[in-house]
Amino acid sequence: MLEVTQLVKDYGALRAVDGVSFTVRPGEIVGLLGPNGAGKTTVMRCIAGILRPTAGSVLINGHDLRAEQREAKRGLAFVPEVPALYELLTVREHLRFIAMCFDRLDVFDARGDELLARYDLLEKADAFVATLSKGMKQKLAVACALIHDANVLLLDEPLIGVDPKGAHEFKAELMRRRDSGCSVLLSTHLLDTAERFCDRIIIMGRGRNLAEGTMEELRRVCDMQGATLEEVFLKLTEEPGEAAFDLSAP
Ligand code: ATP
Repeated sequence: MLEVTQLVKDYGALRAVDGVSFTVRPGEIVGLLGPNGAGKTTVMRCIAGILRPTAGSVLINGHDLRAEQREAKRGLAFVPEVPALYELLTVREHLRFIAMCFDRLDVFDARGDELLARYDLLEKADAFVATLSKGMKQKLAVACALIHDANVLLLDEPLIGVDPKGAHEFKAELMRRRDSGCSVLLSTHLLDTAERFCDRIIIMGRGRNLAEGTMEELRRVCDMQGATLEEVFLKLTEEPGEAAFDLSAP
């Protein structure tokens, strides 16, 4: 379970995130969408504990990220937009290291090679991370996120550069994780993927939450029956006069 309340992040004079609140419940995939610069990555990095929020709180499985960092991060896995990997470890060593950090060497011993095989990385298991292609690095970042059985997954454009087989495998894994009760927050510009896989969608613009709901709810607030997510997205993010839509209204 992920709970974000009134999150604010300033970069100097720029307020990049301006009071964003949302919840990702167990067994739910929530899409975090928005135009370039809307603040999605900043939100993700605050939840991952990489950036310190200016204000607001993040609870992961009920643990406050600031007050109980260790307990909060134990249940969290993050795939960043640009994978930050240890280039001088081999692929297998890298996966093992991440499992070790989360005290889950048992999972690595039982399923490490199977996970590498699933993402076509087994033949590179003894190669240095520095020698992997861009897409292979992204797949390794995904494998590292999956090795410690986190129940809150944060995925920032996880499929960029990943080939169709890897993307297919990853989407299937996301469905399995959702069905086993994980909370998944997925940031993407691939609106057809978001429409197909997300149970709810959050649309951000200029650091604020413009709208949140199921596809049906988003269509209703836009008064666009039968519209695609792309059509709804373009309407909600059109300028000027973006306004927050209240989905609690009848
Ligand atoms: P994209 O879809 O392009 O990845 P995004 O929604 O993820 O965009 P962010 O990367 O969160 O957007 O950026 C939000 C705003 O904060 C932008 O105006 C960006 O220029 C600014 N910003 C991001 N990182 C920094 C930083 N380190 N220092 C100053 N400003 C930053």
